[in-house]
Amino acid sequence: MQTIYNYINGEYVPPQSGQFIDNFNPSTGELSGKIPNSDSADIELAVRAANAAFPAWANMPLEHRHDILRSISDGILQNLDALSEAESADSGKTVTSARTVDIPRSALNFKFFATSILHFASESHHAPGTLSYTLRQPLGVVGCISPWNLPLYLFTWKIAPALAAGNCVVSKPSEVTPLTAFILGDICNAAGLPPGVLNIVHGLGPRAGEAIVRHPQIKAISFTGSTRAGSEIARIAAPMFKKLSLELGGKNPNLIFADCDYEKMLDTTVRSSFNNQGQICLCGSRIYVEKSMYTRFKKDFLERVKNLKIGNPKDPANNLGAVVSKMHFDKVLGCIDLAKKEGGQILIGGSALQMPAPFDKGWYIAPTVIEGLSAECRTNQEEIFGPVVTIQPFDNDNEALELANSTPYGLSATVWTNNLQRAHHLAANLQAGIVWVNTWMERDLRTPFGGVKNSGVGREGGWEALRFFTEAKNVTFGG
Ligand code: NAD
Repeated sequence: MQTIYNYINGEYVPPQSGQFIDNFNPSTGELSGKIPNSDSADIELAVRAANAAFPAWANMPLEHRHDILRSISDGILQNLDALSEAESADSGKTVTSARTVDIPRSALNFKFFATSILHFASESHHAPGTLSYTLRQPLGVVGCISPWNLPLYLFTWKIAPALAAGNCVVSKPSEVTPLTAFILGDICNAAGLPPGVLNIVHGLGPRAGEAIVRHPQIKAISFTGSTRAGSEIARIAAPMFKKLSLELGGKNPNLIFADCDYEKMLDTTVRSSFNNQGQICLCGSRIYVEKSMYTRFKKDFLERVKNLKIGNPKDPANNLGAVVSKMHFDKVLGCIDLAKKEGGQILIGGSALQMPAPFDKGWYIAPTVIEGLSAECRTNQEEIFGPVVTIQPFDNDNEALELANSTPYGLSATVWTNNLQRAHHLAANLQAGIVWVNTWMERDLRTPFGGVKNSGVGREGGWEALRFFTEAKNVTFGG
């Protein structure tokens, strides 16, 4: 059992109320520790520390800020084993996945924005008799709130650009996966991050998270999570005129055409369906396949899915671990039941998996493939965010596009074709913030990242993130 604390002003402190909440290990279903049940009093302390640290941090020479953020990146890699094991224990994902994806990417987030800030520049506009230039100034204290599916990866994706741009941060990781953010405090201290520049407060969304959103001195909110919570945050923050970046849910389509590179498509589609137990906002959950190839695809896809190994997240032979929590386990199983009621045929999976002890109380769900549902049914319209995909044939490009665009979401889409004209046409017309052609999850950190429709507002990544975390001020000189 491990008790964790808030990281405020460079120190680990218990919540003001003295209240803690339980944390569980999804692979065993057992209680693993206690985390602070923080509230507005803790957020107030964090904001005070952040405000006090802001002038020195904002005015620090860029090279010095860069050096500290680079040291945090190095510190994350030096703690690769401990962080990977903590991430797996908290989230149920395999240690291999945490070691090869989550933790290296968290280090890269710091490295990327540490160097970006050295090259960030603003515009100047010259006209006869006038010269205007744009100042890009840090906002002050900003709030960063992140989800459980890629815990340290998405947490650092926000705080690294916020800090690089010269802001001080009050942040909250998901209450379901707090461990790696807890460890990050020590790494920041060892890297020489001045106290108060980054504050990490743990607790529940409607309590600690909402207190961040409501705090009048927090100038911007960068949020990744569900569309439901995003709309609640927007409702509270918009009348206070806070800057908002909202990365929300998805229901991403995969469009597979008969002219694609079949083996590459098949390998990638298994990954894009079930990586991280299907709990990646970019997973493709609706698979549309050109009719002439549908039977072949269905047979080969099911064969591959049958070969996936699920179980103990520490065993490197396993491809999938547990889903993140009992609540999420029940939700995903409820979605599978709904799919059955809507007339879907379960081609494989469709139920929880019983594991041998000590994993017998863990939350494991078999990778599930469903056929025979309409595009309009709830299963094909609502986010499931688990190891569940639907498959459906289409006749032509127009129908494929119509199916892809038929949900309220618009995060990402994947297209498999070797027809260049078709690929460009679909890329231009898909209602999504991110389109992958003949690949998936390929991330260049300089590219804009975010969704349209109910998948969010604003973009992260590269200059977009540094622009979000700075205010543009125009200065004009007369001649
Ligand atoms: P969630 O919305 O329940 O919680 C996300 C974070 O927000 C947590 O830290 C939570 O405590 C906090 N929170 C919840 N309600 C809040 C409120 N009213 N005010 C302030 N903070 C609040 O989401 P989750 O279940 O942790 O994560 C899964 C969701 O995240 C899925 O919908 C998934 O698609 C989405 N997601 C999106 C992206 C993206 O880049 N678009 C990436 C990963 C996950």
